[in-house]
Amino acid sequence: MALIVVKFGGTSVADVARIEVAAGKVAQEVARGNKVVVVVSAMAGVTNQLVAYCDQLGKLYDAREYDAIVASGEQVTSGLMALALQKRGLNARSFQGWQIPIITDDRHGNARVQKINAALLQERLQTGEIIVVPGFQGITADQRITTLGRGGSDTTAVALAAALQADRCDIYTDVDGVYTTDPRIVPKARKIKKISYEEMIEMASLGAKVLQIRSVETAMQDHVAVQVLSTFEDHVGSDLPGTLVVKDEDIMEKNVVTGIAYSRNEAKVTLMKVPDRPGIAAQIFEPMADAAVNVDMIVQNISADSEATDITFTIVATDVPKALKALESIESLKGVEIRVDEDVAKVSIVGIGMISHHGVASLMFRTLADKGINIQVISTSEIKISVLIQKDYMELAVRALHEAYGLEEGG
Ligand code: ASP
Ligand code: MG
Repeated sequence: MALIVVKFGGTSVADVARIEVAAGKVAQEVARGNKVVVVVSAMAGVTNQLVAYCDQLGKLYDAREYDAIVASGEQVTSGLMALALQKRGLNARSFQGWQIPIITDDRHGNARVQKINAALLQERLQTGEIIVVPGFQGITADQRITTLGRGGSDTTAVALAAALQADRCDIYTDVDGVYTTDPRIVPKARKIKKISYEEMIEMASLGAKVLQIRSVETAMQDHVAVQVLSTFEDHVGSDLPGTLVVKDEDIMEKNVVTGIAYSRNEAKVTLMKVPDRPGIAAQIFEPMADAAVNVDMIVQNISADSEATDITFTIVATDVPKALKALESIESLKGVEIRVDEDVAKVSIVGIGMISHHGVASLMFRTLADKGINIQVISTSEIKISVLIQKDYMELAVRALHEAYGLEEGG
């Protein structure tokens, strides 16, 4: 017998019929002798609708009221799920975030979980009750409702699994797992059986948006085994049909490259002939940090004449206006030409096995060269190598790399 937290995303609870299907999965787990805590998202589209209502009243709304409004979508689904379970003759009830409580900080709209009263839930679980918890919502110490950021129900589920020391956290969604790359680009992409937290974070931040990144960080911190699986297939979580996100020690066969991630939402900024003297990098990047611009790859070359050098970096394309504003305010950049290129994409290979293998980067560069793809910027970390290339070549690069590292089905 295991204690499992199961979470159903918006498409899995999009209407009452689907909620009944989801309830059927829970019933099967219970029939196998497991204890289950259910976390639900709002019905698909509901949160967007609630956000739109706020927007109609103007962008300057009070974030505390925004949270009171958008948290309501999950409340509806939690009640419906409890009813659907009861209809199957199961003993179920909903507990809202404030009833447990799930205490968060007061960063409204993007709050972090601080404490969960697990004792109450433990007690109810002992009585055989199935607990249904709305995802996404919490409450501050001074009794204001909060939400955990878009996609935050994943984090609710993982945080509950950690607090309850659950055996597993199953995230039911509309895909059947995490793939070696986007199957829309590479139809032969393969479902990954096990991926480490670190790899998942790299894959998620690079465009494989299956889980909210913060939920993976929480899982990594508290060693929660997370499974991503589909609601629309016959099996249940205990059959382990999906992708398991676990500690790297729990992965026997460490792939050199586990997956290929990409991002089209990139911009390359080049500052031409910046004075080459101590402190200049700090003068450039501090104002951008203050403006909350996230800088990713950075390249600075040595200057031939030790007087001036070019500095190139990448940011997300949507941050370009913010970044330009910050750069234009910098005194020592007066007269420096700033070039922005949004015709770029980032492609990354990710794998924990990279740490102990050589030749991984050279294969990447050879593969791209053979396709005639020019690499503009390179950056590396222990488990990732990223290149910036022209946008038009992105899909070709992803396909070529996927093949080169033998990631396809049967490869
Ligand atoms: N309903 C929220 C959203 O759409 C939270 C979630 O579904 O994870 O962002
Ligand atoms: Mg989601």
